[in-house]
Amino acid sequence: MLIELAVGDAYGAGFEYVDKDVIHKYNNLEYRQHPRHLGTKPGMYTDDTQMSLAVAELIVENKDWTSVNIADKFLEAFKRDEREGYAAGFYHFLKKTESGDEFLKNINPSSDKSGAAMRAPVIGVYEDIKEVLEKTEIQAALTHNTKDGINAAKASSLITHYFIWEKGQKKDLAKYIKSHVKGDWLSPWTGKVRSKGWMSVRAAITAIQQTNSLAELLKACVAFTGDVDTVAAIALAGGSVCKEMKKDLPSWLFSQMEDGSYGRTYIESLDKKLKQI
Ligand SMILES: [Mg+2]
Repeated sequence: MLIELAVGDAYGAGFEYVDKDVIHKYNNLEYRQHPRHLGTKPGMYTDDTQMSLAVAELIVENKDWTSVNIADKFLEAFKRDEREGYAAGFYHFLKKTESGDEFLKNINPSSDKSGAAMRAPVIGVYEDIKEVLEKTEIQAALTHNTKDGINAAKASSLITHYFIWEKGQKKDLAKYIKSHVKGDWLSPWTGKVRSKGWMSVRAAITAIQQTNSLAELLKACVAFTGDVDTVAAIALAGGSVCKEMKKDLPSWLFSQMEDGSYGRTYIESLDKKLKQI
């Protein structure tokens, strides 16, 4: 799940808010240099994956699910392997913040953008839906303590939960989410995905329901245009644990993924540990 999330993020990163004509021409499953974000090289992942690694580590280390432990983890994941791709304000906040306590004291948690949803898919591994929703809300509230921010995160973690725990067929995913989380999850998303969390999550749900293979899914996410690295990260995490989805991502999307200390090899090993939860 994590490695596919990272593939979605890294592939989508080359197309985030890129002109739609360029996307239509190059949406062919090769990592691509973003025309403006020159610090993110082809095959590098962004904040979506880095924050998901933080949450995944918290899960496999079986740490207490407290705000301060979560904040410490976000900082640890960022400081050991700094990268661009975060919203500018949050990037500078992470840079100057030294501890989880300081994080909690100084953060303005009023965002309704996609940050809390992009890091939530891994929480779907828990079997008990109450635990999934509670843990998702606690982590979301650190930075996105708004109704929309929290609901987007909950819907995001329920996508993977639905498939991992085989709650139903792919075509009924949106209905399942609607029955547990407030919001319009039933209307199919069309067009450009802007920055609010629920937009990325609804686009991911739509793409999952409209495609039958991970390769098709990844292209569909990017074809929306807009905040497509987040859409693809959330959707690929869900698609990767869906039995109805053909697992046909081209091998180069894995082999060309960055593979430093926290790259592909690390992500795959964390993925294995997550499966044992
Ligand atoms: Mg991103």
